[in-house]
Amino acid sequence: MATIALKVDVDTYRGTVEGVPRLVEVFARAAIRATFLFSLGPDHTGRAIKRIFRPGFFAKVQRTSVLEHYGWRTLLYGTVLPGPDIARRCRTILRDVAAAGHETGIHTWDHVLWQDAVRQRSARWTKGQMQRAYERFEEVFGARPATHGAAGWQTNEHALRQLDVWGMRYASDGRITVASDGPYRLKIGEEILQCVQLPTTLPTFDELIGIDGMDGAAAARHLLSLTEGATRDHVFTLHSELEGARLCGPFEVLLAGWRSQGYELASLGDAYARLDLARLPLRGLGFATIPGRSGELMVAATPGTQS
Ligand SMILES: [Zn+2]
Repeated sequence: MATIALKVDVDTYRGTVEGVPRLVEVFARAAIRATFLFSLGPDHTGRAIKRIFRPGFFAKVQRTSVLEHYGWRTLLYGTVLPGPDIARRCRTILRDVAAAGHETGIHTWDHVLWQDAVRQRSARWTKGQMQRAYERFEEVFGARPATHGAAGWQTNEHALRQLDVWGMRYASDGRITVASDGPYRLKIGEEILQCVQLPTTLPTFDELIGIDGMDGAAAARHLLSLTEGATRDHVFTLHSELEGARLCGPFEVLLAGWRSQGYELASLGDAYARLDLARLPLRGLGFATIPGRSGELMVAATPGTQS
């Protein structure tokens, strides 16, 4: 049976407080075990305003009505309002996710900082950010994080090596540019990393909404058209700020649709457990643009041809 692994990216304080419990309820109703990846440090969403100078950003903001999804308060965190420390303020909510049987892991320490800076930063800076998230995770959950999904699909070589240092068996840090692509091991220079990458294989709701006038319901239909036939496994990324809020209805329709297409809905760990590890391809670290998103994101490249 083909699997769709559900990876929930939790980016903000509000997404943690409101979106996460709502998604836990949705998954409980549907008897689904998913993977939740948390932003564990300060919510500095307001600082993303710098991205307004980046090509493609303004179009995305307009199209996906950022204000409607995130609210004024979130857009001021880290600017005129201090950024709330997410894991410290939401300890109980985070623990409840694990208690409900879901897989939990690291999204980031400071989402905006990581997303905007990591590609240019040193090993020292990168490890410092990751270590803060790791320590906070252990403090909250009393356990080691099972997995990692890079914030904004942004990363660098040092971050990917750090996953091996941690002994993480699998992560979902990137995207694909070839529709048939799936899990792989990274080869950076002559070095083969042990941590298996399970890239996100489908577009996200916010990459679809507004394109050709698509609303949430149309985006769900489009996603179902991409997965018809259930011929392969997928990883789908959702956001607690969207599917755990205004897009909850269309998301539930999507889940029901995937079930009737014959998929099993699972966590990244469940998807990893079914891989034939001896047959995984080796891929290089690349960066490319993805339709509906601004900037370049981590993708699999031919080994030795880093872009
Ligand atoms: Zn994120």
